[in-house]
Amino acid sequence: SVVTRFAPSPTGFLHIGGARTALFNWLFARHHGGKFLLRIEDTDKARSTTEAIDAILDGMRWLDLDWDGHEYYQSQFWSRHAEVAHKLLERGHAYRCYMTQEELAAQREKAQAERRPFRIESPWRDVTDDQGDKPFVIRLKAPRDGETVIEDKVQGRVAVQNVELDDFVLLRSDGTPTYMLAVVVDDHDMGVTHVIRGDDHLNNAFRQLAIIRAMGWPEPIYAHVPLIHGQDGAKLSKRHGALGVDAYRDELGLLPEAVSNYLLRLGWGHGDDEIISREQAIEWFDLAHVGKSPSRFDFKKLENLNGHYIREADDARLAELVAPKLGLDAGQKGLLQRAMPELKARAHDLNQLAEGARFLFSRRPLDVDEAASALLTPESRALLTHAHKALGTVEWNHDALEQSVREVAEAQGVKLGKLAQPLRAALTGRTTSPGIFDVLALLGKGESLARIEDQIL
Ligand code: GLU
Repeated sequence: SVVTRFAPSPTGFLHIGGARTALFNWLFARHHGGKFLLRIEDTDKARSTTEAIDAILDGMRWLDLDWDGHEYYQSQFWSRHAEVAHKLLERGHAYRCYMTQEELAAQREKAQAERRPFRIESPWRDVTDDQGDKPFVIRLKAPRDGETVIEDKVQGRVAVQNVELDDFVLLRSDGTPTYMLAVVVDDHDMGVTHVIRGDDHLNNAFRQLAIIRAMGWPEPIYAHVPLIHGQDGAKLSKRHGALGVDAYRDELGLLPEAVSNYLLRLGWGHGDDEIISREQAIEWFDLAHVGKSPSRFDFKKLENLNGHYIREADDARLAELVAPKLGLDAGQKGLLQRAMPELKARAHDLNQLAEGARFLFSRRPLDVDEAASALLTPESRALLTHAHKALGTVEWNHDALEQSVREVAEAQGVKLGKLAQPLRAALTGRTTSPGIFDVLALLGKGESLARIEDQIL
């Protein structure tokens, strides 16, 4: 049965490309009723941080990508990696290389001078004796004849001439494994059947296969997914949205289901479907429909998708998410939730929701912005005075409020907008807000009348 894994190196945040890799692996495993594993590749101890590990776990949880069993840490398996390196040594597929840094540098310089690619030529490749205490690395005795072919599920058939594969290091002189060795051993030991990852690892796959074949292990199925590019086609940078997943949540105010849906569509397609639920995604996901060319990150699309999910989202949940952005207490949350049906029709993200809701909790006298101030002319203040009087006597519900405001406008011989605009300015300090009768209803009688008074007295 299917086993996939996500194997991030905890040297930075969980960025958007990594999140997509995780999502594809998760969906593939769930589609096939298989297992999805999480392996933190913390072999680079100097660059791995606990903050990065926490950010990865946190980001995965936020996106609702649960992994089977506990998460694995690659550094726990170092002795197993070393064991495999020694097995390869015993079987003649690897050798102890005693080359010094100077010798390596000399080879590199020579290659440069002769303008050919540097490929290590170790004089130790065919030496089997142990040289005693001298420091050594263990290198793979890479095949030199023929070619290595990968039938990649996304890239199709890809081949490399074996002369191009060098005798790369498996075990460093301090006994620690290289990424190349560790990844292969762990994938094998965990029974990984499908390796789905960024195509920046395609070149590594040939080297990894060389280890797998030397060990006589089953070969996984590879799917190398093209990287995400920016709108302009350039490699994704911070400016393009190469942010940590936490920034999508905290700074951009996006919902996880929107980010997840967007990432799914970024590089995989199901006809013209744009809005795809998790359940649908599990049912439909396959490797055959992963695109072969890099996809472009489109903020506008993500924003629109997020707007959709905000409109779909439960009001209590949205109030819970927005309340901290406004520093609200439990009592104020109730009002926020009641306002949510109106607010969410206009917002693409949680920040916009918070901004739209801010007027509900502003203290009098309101800060009136410039555009709204411009609406508060002597004539409109006179209209507000009439409205204030009429509103003082009505029952405080949407329909009665609407009727009353319309009657005032009519009596004063102005269109509804002529009154509604300054009313909005007085009640919210802005020129945009939910419908004016909803605003009145939400603010309540006392607060509404007081805010109007502030502008007419
Ligand atoms: N740890 C590697 C990375 O973060 C991924 C290894 C793999 O997927 O094989 O780039």
